Amino acid sequence: MSEAERKNAKHKAAMEKQKANVDASIEAADEDRGVAILLTGNGKGKTSSAFGMIMRALGYGHKVGVIQFIKGEQLSGEELYLRDHCPQVEFHQMGTGFTWDTQDRSGDIAAAQRTWAYALPMLRDSSIDLVVLDELTYMIAFDYLPEEEIVEAIVSRPKNQSVVVTGRGGGSKLQDIMDTVSEVKDIKHAFNAGIKARRGVDY
Ligand code: ATP
Ligand code: MG
Repeated sequence: MSEAERKNAKHKAAMEKQKANVDASIEAADEDRGVAILLTGNGKGKTSSAFGMIMRALGYGHKVGVIQFIKGEQLSGEELYLRDHCPQVEFHQMGTGFTWDTQDRSGDIAAAQRTWAYALPMLRDSSIDLVVLDELTYMIAFDYLPEEEIVEAIVSRPKNQSVVVTGRGGGSKLQDIMDTVSEVKDIKHAFNAGIKARRGVDY
């Protein structure tokens, strides 16, 4: 047997084994329901991943609701796109901007509560397939919204509804109730090398 044939045979054997494992896992996953996903960590990619899922859902004609906490002060590509091209998507923003800019705790809390009042009915509406709660973790971390109420609303949402929460942190109570928790790790970021945040990439 030549070296190439030996490598090919080894590859085939490894792939057969992998296929058996993958098939067994697929077979074992027999629960069909919406999933709760938390995208957290200090690296770049949380909100953009959530909007990737919005695109997937829209591709299948699913009904999507999007709430952006903190955001709205500064325009973003995702806001422009949803408003111009996806009128069917219910979209709300808190609109205050960053807490270090507003420097107004009670104003921020009132805005957070107004915004959460849009999220709650979405989490009770079984016609909505995907709810995105962008930057929600900060509302819990700053104690702007009650964690218990958020956890309760996510846990008791309709069976077939998926929910995506983004933001750094996200306490252990929130992590406990989510089905998928991914941490985006900051290995390096262009901004820290002095490169400006970029339209269409960062916002
Ligand atoms: P994106 O919206 O690009 O997916 P994100 O949601 O993971 O990013 P946020 O913490 O919400 O990250 O921050 C949003 C903005 O901050 C984006 O412009 C992003 O590029 C930038 N950013 C994210 N991570 C870092 C980092 N580690 N250092 C500097 N800037 C960052
Ligand atoms: Mg984000």
